Amino acid sequence: MNAPFPPCGPRVSQERGQRAVFCGLTGIVWLHRKIRDAFFLVVGSRTCAHLIQSAAGVMIFAEPRFATAIIEERDLAGLADAHEELDRVVGRLLERRPDIRLLFLVGSCPSEVIKLDLGRAAARLSGRFAPAVRVLSYSGSGIETTFTQGEDACLAALVPDMGTSDDTSLLVVGTLADVVEDQFARLFADLGIGPVRFLPGRRAAEQATVGRGTRYLLAQPFLADTARALDNRGARRIAAPFPLGAEGTTLWLRAAAEAFGIAPERVAAVTAPGLARAGRALDRHRERLEGRRLFFFPDSQLEIPLARFLSREMGVELIEVGTPYLHRQHLAEELALLPAGTAVVEGQSLDDQLDRCRAARPDLTVCGLGLANPLEAEDRPTKWSIELLFTPIQGYEQAGDLAELFARPLVRRSRLEV
Ligand code: SF4
Repeated sequence: MNAPFPPCGPRVSQERGQRAVFCGLTGIVWLHRKIRDAFFLVVGSRTCAHLIQSAAGVMIFAEPRFATAIIEERDLAGLADAHEELDRVVGRLLERRPDIRLLFLVGSCPSEVIKLDLGRAAARLSGRFAPAVRVLSYSGSGIETTFTQGEDACLAALVPDMGTSDDTSLLVVGTLADVVEDQFARLFADLGIGPVRFLPGRRAAEQATVGRGTRYLLAQPFLADTARALDNRGARRIAAPFPLGAEGTTLWLRAAAEAFGIAPERVAAVTAPGLARAGRALDRHRERLEGRRLFFFPDSQLEIPLARFLSREMGVELIEVGTPYLHRQHLAEELALLPAGTAVVEGQSLDDQLDRCRAARPDLTVCGLGLANPLEAEDRPTKWSIELLFTPIQGYEQAGDLAELFARPLVRRSRLEV
C-alpha cells in the first residue's frame, strides 16, 4: 500500500492486483428503464447476453429494450463481414420495433477483440435511419470499463449529440429514478433555480442543450468522462458532495443554490421540511447501525459518499473504504467530510483485501455479488452493492430507505440468531 494522501484527511492509498467487479454492460439494466424509447444492442458473446439477462431478470412477456447481437466463432475468425451482419441485425430490429428512437451499439470484450469499429457503424447507421432513429455507440466491455463506468460511457456518448445553447441553466447529470428526479425538480423550482434539465432525459427527444451558460451538478460520482465531455462543451461543474442522506442532499442543493445566487434564508426554508422528514426516517435505523463496523470492497464508485453518509449520519465505524477509482476533484468535498484517518483504498488486490476483511471481522461487508456468497458462507453478513444502483436512494425522501438497505442484513442476522 502507498503513502497516505492527503495527510490531514482520510488515508488514501492505491492497490493493484486481481479484481472482482462487473463489466460496464451492467449499466444497461438501469439505463434502459430511464430512457424509454432507447434500445441497447450489445455486440458481444453469449456470455454478455447471459450477464445482461440474469442481471435484469428479463420478463418473458415484456418487450425488452436491450438485446445481444451475438458474435459467432466465424466472426471472431474473421470469416464473416461483421459490419454487414450488424447492419442486417439493426435493420431487422428497427423494422420490428418502430418505437425505438435512440439506438446504442454497445461494445463488449469480443467486439474489441475483433476490433469492430462501432463508432463507424453508428455513424453509418445513423445516416441510414435518421431522422427517425439516432444511433450512438459506447463501450461496456470488461477490458475498458467496470460496472458503473458503463453509464459514464453511455452519457459521454450523448454529450456530443446535445444541442448548443449558452443560456443559463442547471443540468443534473447521472441516472436518477423518475420519482427522485421529480422530487429534485420540485425542490429546484422552490429554490428559484431554472431552467433545470436532466441527463439522460426520459426520451430521446428530451435531451438537454449545453453551452457556456450551463452549470452542471453531478448526481452520481462515477461520471468522469461525461464531465470532461461537458467541460469541453463550455459547461461548468458545481462542486458538491453527492445527494445521499439528509446532509449530502442539503449540501448538494445548497451548492446549486450558491451557484445561482439564491439567498441562504430561502435555501434553509425550502430544505427544512425535507431535512426534518429525512432526520425522522434516519432515527428509526440509527440504533441498528450505530457503532457497527463496515468494510467496503471496491465496486460501484458510490463507496465514498456512502461511507460519508453512514459514518456522519448513522454513527457507523469505517474499517476500510475501497473504491475502484478515485476522482480526487469530483470527490474532494466528500473526502473532506470523511473522519480523519479513514482508510480509503483505490483499486483492488482481491486476496490482500479479503485477508484484511477477514482479519477485521466487520459487522457488515459491502461488496459485489461475486464476493457476497463466499463471504456469507463464512458467516459474514454482506450487502450487495448492485442494489444501491437499482434502488432509489438519493434525496430527502429516500434517506430512510438508504439507511434501511444497510440495516436490513443486520436485522435479518439478528433474527436468525434468535
Ligand atoms: Fe464478459 Fe466482457 Fe461480455 Fe462483460 S463484456 S460479459 S466482461 S465478455
